[in-house]
This record gives sequence, structure tokens and C-alpha cells, in this order.
Amino acid sequence: MSGTVLVVIEHDRGTLDEVSWQAIGLAQECSANAIHAVVIGDDAAQLAGLIPGVSTTHHARHDALSDYAPEAWGDVIAQLSSHIGATAIVATGTDRGNEVLAHAAAALDAVFVSNVVAYRPSTDTGPAELTRVRWGGSLLEHATVAPGFSIMSAAPHAFAAAETNNEYGQIVEFTPTLSDTAPRTRVADRITLASGITLQTAPVVVSGGRGVGSAEGFATLEALADLLGGAVGCSRVVTNQGWRPHSDQVGQTGKRVAPELYIACGISGAIQHWIGMQAAQRILAINLDKDAPMVTKGDYAVIGDLHEILPAIIAELQRRR
Ligand SMILES: Cc1cc2nc3c(=O)[nH]c(=O)nc-3n(C[C@H](O)[C@H](O)[C@H](O)COP(=O)(O)OP(=O)(O)OC[C@H]3O[C@@H](n4cnc5c(N)ncnc54)[C@H](O)[C@@H]3O)c2cc1C
Repeated sequence: MSGTVLVVIEHDRGTLDEVSWQAIGLAQECSANAIHAVVIGDDAAQLAGLIPGVSTTHHARHDALSDYAPEAWGDVIAQLSSHIGATAIVATGTDRGNEVLAHAAAALDAVFVSNVVAYRPSTDTGPAELTRVRWGGSLLEHATVAPGFSIMSAAPHAFAAAETNNEYGQIVEFTPTLSDTAPRTRVADRITLASGITLQTAPVVVSGGRGVGSAEGFATLEALADLLGGAVGCSRVVTNQGWRPHSDQVGQTGKRVAPELYIACGISGAIQHWIGMQAAQRILAINLDKDAPMVTKGDYAVIGDLHEILPAIIAELQRRR
């Protein structure tokens, strides 16, 4: 691929996410003539001079870019890409990277290939070839991309990070034209958990599925999580029912967790859920069904009604303390 590749640098209120170096790594494999980077928002001012392996870093500023705003970021990237005549746009395949590239692709009416793990540039005789991860990591897809403009995200840890060799390119200011509605989806407020324990950092996750039966049923899971210094998670059935917020969902379309102990209460263990908690060190399944995948694949199981088993565990923990 000749031409200019534009790399989106991820940051949160000016705190750099160095996974972006991996996107630069993918850009380097594109055999581009030039690699440019973009950092977005006033908060990113101090980052613009710190991006390695690129000839130019564009710093996009606008009043509407005060915090993360995926549609507005997508608009910025689309406008800048046209402005510099980029032949490709890349980012890292994080939630944010994929989200903003999807918006940029929609704005440019271009194809977006997410979560690329291997890339071979197009030649005079053939198109670019790539492999990408799909279905939460359970499928590798081999594909070709027609020559011309492309938008890609690099699957996390698939490409070597660009080296931070103290060689940085020039910084250029870029002022996008954004409509009033561009930042309609944006981070407006943040809440810091008082306990400091989050689903993704908790040593124990007590997670509930359809078997819990209701929003009120989660009170027992909350009580057990409190006793164990853990957090409560859930399956997608639970969020679909409105029993818990999506932020508690574990799985392919939720959070990935890796606690010391994952207690799965009334969760069957569908592959889309398993993907989110398979990194747990130990898995305890509480289920009526001895043949449920969560039971057969887990480390420990209690076969029975969670509405009886959880109160019994809580009572025993309280008695021992
Ligand atoms: C594209 C896609 C993405 C998806 N993403 C996710 C995701 O991110 N996360 C996710 O979780 N799912 C996801 N799913 C849905 C997934 O396929 C399953 O449908 C879901 O995980 C099932 O949730 P569950 O285990 O709570 O319910 P079920 O599969 O219905 O299982 C309920 C379990 O509870 C047990 N049970 C019932 N009553 C009791 C009781 N009283 N005591 C003890 N056990 C009891 C049953 O024996 C059963 O094993 C996705 C699906 C698709 C297609």
C-alpha cells in the first residue's frame, strides 16, 4: 500500500493508552510512504509530541471535543483523512478504537475491517490479504481487501508496538467542522466507585444468570459478593430482562473478567458468556442441571437450587466469622 496511513491515538482525558503503539505497528506493515497520527481534544495537547514512529501528528481541537464522543471523533477522523488524502485509517481494536472507526467508516461510506491479526499489503498482482478475529476469538477469518482506501483496527497484541525511540514527527493543528449534533453521544459525567472494586478488578465475581429469576433475586448475590470482597456480574439474559445494567454483563458483548474465583449462579455457560470469564483461575458453578456446560467445564459445582444454596453459603460464612 503506498500513500499515507492515518493512525488514531487513543487516550482518555489526556491519559494515553499505549495500545495505540500497536496500531502504529500495523500501519508500519502497510508499507505506507508516510504514517500520520491524530490525537483528539484539548486534553490531548501534551500527547501530540509523544507519538513515536510517525512523520506528523495532527492535533484536532474543537469546543465539542471536551471528552470522549464517538460520533464526533469519527467525524474528525473522516475529515482529517480526506484533508491529508489518506489511503488508510487504522486504530487499535479496543471498544473505543472499533467504535470511532465504525463512525468514521459510516461518514466516509467506506469498508471497515475490525480486529486484524495479520496483514499482507496489496501488490501489483494481487489485493491486500488479512486475517481477522471474529466471534469473540473463536473464529479466524481470512479475507482479501480490494486495493484502494481501507479502514482497519488491529486486534490487541497482534502487532508489535512501534518503538518509542525518541524520534517524533511534526505537530500540526487541525480544526474540524462539527455540527451541533456531532457530539450527541459523549461522556458527560464520571462516577468513581467508593469501594474501588470493579467487575474487572475484583478477586471474586459472583455472577447470576436466568436462574436467578428476577432483579430482586440478585440481593443474595450482592450479599455474597460483599462478604467475599467481590463484585456482581451477570449474563446477557439478565441484562436483556432489565434485571441488571449492561455494565454488569460478562461475555462477548460485555466485560472480560479474570478473577481468582468466578461463582456462576444459574448460568448455563454458553460460549458467548464463557469467552468473558474463561480467564478466571477457578470456576464454581451453582446450577440445577448437572450437564450444563458451566458445570462440566468449571472446576467445582454444586448441583441444586441457587435460592437455597446461596443463603446456606452466606449463613456458613457469617457463622465462621
Ligand atoms: C452475538 C451474541 C452475543 C452474546 N453475548 C453474550 C454475552 O456477552 N454474555 C452472555 O452472557 N451471553 C451472551 N449471549 C447470549 C448467550 O448465547 C446465552 O443466551 C446466555 O449467556 C444465556 O444466559 P444464561 O446462562 O443466564 O441463561 P440460560 O442459558 O437460560 O441458562 C440458565 C441456567 O440456569 C439454570 N437454573 C435455572 N434455575 C436455576 C436455579 N433455581 N438454581 C440454579 N440453577 C438454575 C439452568 O439449569 C440453566 O443452566 C450472546 C449471544 C449472541 C448471539
